[in-house]
Amino acid sequence: MSQLLKMAGCRMEDNPKRGGQVPIVDAYGQTSIEGIFAAGDVEGIEEASSAMIGGRICGIAAAHFLGYMDDGTFKQQYEIHQNALSGLRQGMFAPENRGKVLTKTEENIDISANLLEKGYLDDSEIDKYPGVTHTGGVRQSGRDPRELPLAMYGIQKLWPTLSEELEVDCEYHQDGNLRLGKTPQHIKILTGLADRARACGLDVRMIDGDEVRAINPYLSDEVTGASWCPTDGHANPRNRRHRCADAVCRAGESGHRSSGPYV
Ligand SMILES: Cc1cc2nc3c(=O)[nH]c(=O)nc-3n(C[C@H](O)[C@H](O)[C@H](O)COP(=O)(O)OP(=O)(O)OC[C@H]3O[C@@H](n4cnc5c(N)ncnc54)[C@H](O)[C@@H]3O)c2cc1C
Repeated sequence: MSQLLKMAGCRMEDNPKRGGQVPIVDAYGQTSIEGIFAAGDVEGIEEASSAMIGGRICGIAAAHFLGYMDDGTFKQQYEIHQNALSGLRQGMFAPENRGKVLTKTEENIDISANLLEKGYLDDSEIDKYPGVTHTGGVRQSGRDPRELPLAMYGIQKLWPTLSEELEVDCEYHQDGNLRLGKTPQHIKILTGLADRARACGLDVRMIDGDEVRAINPYLSDEVTGASWCPTDGHANPRNRRHRCADAVCRAGESGHRSSGPYV
């Protein structure tokens, strides 16, 4: 296509940012030769949507050039398509940003160099992004009866004051735990777990699908029942584990923050 334009005598330029040999065009895609228009990859490599909108702009410009469209309609139509094109050409892939090292996204969030270069975020970067939470279950339900007394002791004696003791907000919330079931087999397993836990003194019971959705309205109708333990909850394991290691060190035990196991 590029060759065709060249053969027609259109002025060309070697522009690496637009993909090599491209015609010089005006805002409407008209080349240096009146009545010859170029849009899409031949005018500058971009992507399919911008190629289509660029083609429409050339189309209305050609119609206007040939006298099939009046000035007012042409101006109005051009603006519509140009706005659509500008909407597409935002952010780091916008032509004006090509080759620039951008440090912020349009939402003013730090750009991850790792994500661009390697395709993933590393651990140190993850916390910087909105919506990232570190939530771990603090639960007694679903546990083996042999570990249950320890888990129950923790909920009753440790968790209520742990944030104060460790001097860090553990983000502990005691808002219950649902273990969901969809099939009769699931319900049978959950009922067995709940019965065994209740025998150890845990406040846990089976509830039906309607009760489940009264607690969490976003759950689907496929959920037919669940075990419900109101004293379970969740907390932020990241905050907690570093401070636990500190607390152990303060108590004279061995605790390693950056290597080895956490106590
Ligand atoms: C591998 C690959 C993957 C891509 N993936 C995506 C993607 O996921 N999303 C996206 O938006 N874009 C993608 N693109 C880019 C997108 O395909 C192009 O930007 C878009 O197709 C450009 O449209 P166009 O009409 O300008 O050119 P083209 O789609 O290339 O159309 C040009 C047409 O002209 C014909 N032609 C050429 N010379 C002549 C001639 N002498 N006589 C007659 N006909 C001729 C060709 O056969 C062709 O049909 C991708 C491109 C490639 C190469």
